[in-house]
Amino acid sequence: MRCFVCQSDEFHQISLNQNLLDASDFCEVGATIIGYSYVLTTCKKCGHSAIQTDNPCLLPTRKYDFVKYGEPIEHYPKVSLILRALNLDLDNISIHTFSYKDFQLANFLAKDLAISDVNLNDHAGCSDDWLPVNSSDGIKQDPLPLERLINEINKSDKSHQLILITRFFDHVANHDLLQKILRLNSPTRHIVFDLNDYERLFELGTLEFLWNERRNLFRRSHLESILQKYNLKYLMFSYESHEVSPTLTGVISERLKQSPNSSAVDVTKLSAPHLVEKLIALRQRWQDKLTMSHKLGIIGASHKGVSLAQFVLDSQVKYSLHDDKEALKGKTPPVAPPLGFHSVSGFDFSEYTHIAITTTLVIAAKKIPKLRASGYTGEILDFDGRKLD
Ligand SMILES: [Zn+2]
Repeated sequence: MRCFVCQSDEFHQISLNQNLLDASDFCEVGATIIGYSYVLTTCKKCGHSAIQTDNPCLLPTRKYDFVKYGEPIEHYPKVSLILRALNLDLDNISIHTFSYKDFQLANFLAKDLAISDVNLNDHAGCSDDWLPVNSSDGIKQDPLPLERLINEINKSDKSHQLILITRFFDHVANHDLLQKILRLNSPTRHIVFDLNDYERLFELGTLEFLWNERRNLFRRSHLESILQKYNLKYLMFSYESHEVSPTLTGVISERLKQSPNSSAVDVTKLSAPHLVEKLIALRQRWQDKLTMSHKLGIIGASHKGVSLAQFVLDSQVKYSLHDDKEALKGKTPPVAPPLGFHSVSGFDFSEYTHIAITTTLVIAAKKIPKLRASGYTGEILDFDGRKLD
């Protein structure tokens, strides 16, 4: 593997464990399960952080789409303003989505900019679709979803195309795929992207953003460095609110007046985020808390609860996983909790010494009084092992 930003092959790294599933999601009972190794890396040269793996998937995305999350929307008007300033002929433009995560933005822009040719297709699909394909004569072919996206864009009879790639950059696991998407840009094609603002997330002192579906934890300067390498004109801004994690959004278009000159940041001079050291410290913190006789209930089985079990906890820890989501009933979690997978409501936690709540703070604030009212006296902690009450 080479660094996505500077191509170096020297990394600081730490194992995120062996034999992990290829998507940190829940599966039907009896589904075929393939395990891979995941490694958290920081490039020694430029400090770019990534999750590397022997999983060959080009785009790790949710394998089972029954758990869907609302994407932040407050920054949509700003995206719309940037697009308006491009002076496009809005009667002669088509919108193309990469995944279902773009649907909301596509619908907003269609309404706000009065665009009628909107193609809502979930090309990203699930990770199984993004495994490399070999044809019978041994020639490597693009994964089908990529081919379908490119065909759809090529078939547009409008003079301009607007391509939405929400949460693409942090999930892309292959240089070729990144290159193919960025090369879609042309004088008549314009790309809108967003991803987590990892620079800001690193500053928050948590590691809850680690997830094996996220492969590139691009900081703003690193992403800018890549876009500049492809000679793309872009504009990006950061967005955050209490409800959502910091998000970086931007537009790539030849019509933009000029690119900000790299914020003049030399990517090799960015300070390292020290994620390897932070993960070692986090593992130690949890290890110090839990002895063999302790029992831990993890509430919130979305990726954070699973990441806690997969990446952080010692293999000896006795824990159970809990979630009330209707969609997860009867499913198998991608970890095998020694004390099982259960709902939260109605579960008797009285034998448990610790509870970790890995949902949002808003949900945690509702759960904690209920747990205490039910007589629970153990420690209630967050993903990072910090006391919540
Ligand atoms: Zn690098």
